[in-house]
Amino acid sequence: MAIERLAVIGLGLIGSSIARAVKARLPDVAVTGYDVSADVRDEARLLGFCDRLADDAADAVRDADLVILAVPVGGMADAARAMAPGLAQHTIISDVGSSKAGVGAALRAALPGHLVIPAHPVAGTENSGPAAGFATLFEGRWCIITPAPDAPGDAVTALTGFWQALGATVDTMDAEHHDMVLAVTSHLPHLIAYTIVGTASELEEVTESEVIKYSAGGFRDFTRIAASDPVMWRDVFLANKDAVLATLQRFNEDLTVLQQAIRRGDGDKLEAWFTRTRAIRRSII
Ligand code: NAD
Repeated sequence: MAIERLAVIGLGLIGSSIARAVKARLPDVAVTGYDVSADVRDEARLLGFCDRLADDAADAVRDADLVILAVPVGGMADAARAMAPGLAQHTIISDVGSSKAGVGAALRAALPGHLVIPAHPVAGTENSGPAAGFATLFEGRWCIITPAPDAPGDAVTALTGFWQALGATVDTMDAEHHDMVLAVTSHLPHLIAYTIVGTASELEEVTESEVIKYSAGGFRDFTRIAASDPVMWRDVFLANKDAVLATLQRFNEDLTVLQQAIRRGDGDKLEAWFTRTRAIRRSII
């Protein structure tokens, strides 16, 4: 099935990047955009990355072959319900949410009888909003698709081809597994980064200006992602609660081991740990 008309709901970093990438790589695909914020719609109009901007969600999706919801995870169901009156039967409904099991369930519940194929491009920056997007965001990045076992093969193939055309490499897995993988590779690192910034800001012995001045000692690189959008990340942690809590439990156990080694002066333990983890880190490009 061919994708000739695309609707993007939510025109922030990811939605606007999709629209820009489609214009750059699939110029024959007509892109309609919609955002619940009138300010964002105005900004998108000025930036000009959509062929058409709609002023309501149902109008935006009319005649679309593919609809991509690029709104915060907690807003997916509302966004889906708002667009439902305009959906055609053949339309593939997908999303870009950073967690998948809950989002898939919410979209299917909000859109009974429609075809929902969740997806997650593993690509982003710590910036948000329509001006932050760019056409090359997905190039060389993974996009994970989490179709239900009974999803029609031609629709999965069409969605796979769409993301490949934007430069991504597509992987398919079940939604629960996705959520566990992303809990450790993305969600836990964000939680730790947010925590460290909070800890540093509350230390009585170290001033904020000292933290900023000496941040090249690790703090700056390590905490870049703590500048990410608070609403998006609030929703990710609420939506992926079980997987995040499971990985956090393991992380706490490991941190306690290192804490004990430092307290006991166990240099062998620390060196062995750092040698092993350095080798793993160096194997990640
Ligand atoms: P963003 O804050 O830049 O943009 C989100 C946009 O959605 C905003 O413009 C907002 O007004 C709009 N919106 C909110 N509710 C809406 C609704 N009901 N209808 C229409 N528009 C609505 O956020 P983003 O970084 O583009 O994230 C969007 C989605 O992409 C999230 O689900 C996030 O989990 C996922 N994601 C983000 C990243 C990242 O690094 N930022 C990476 C991969 C996936």
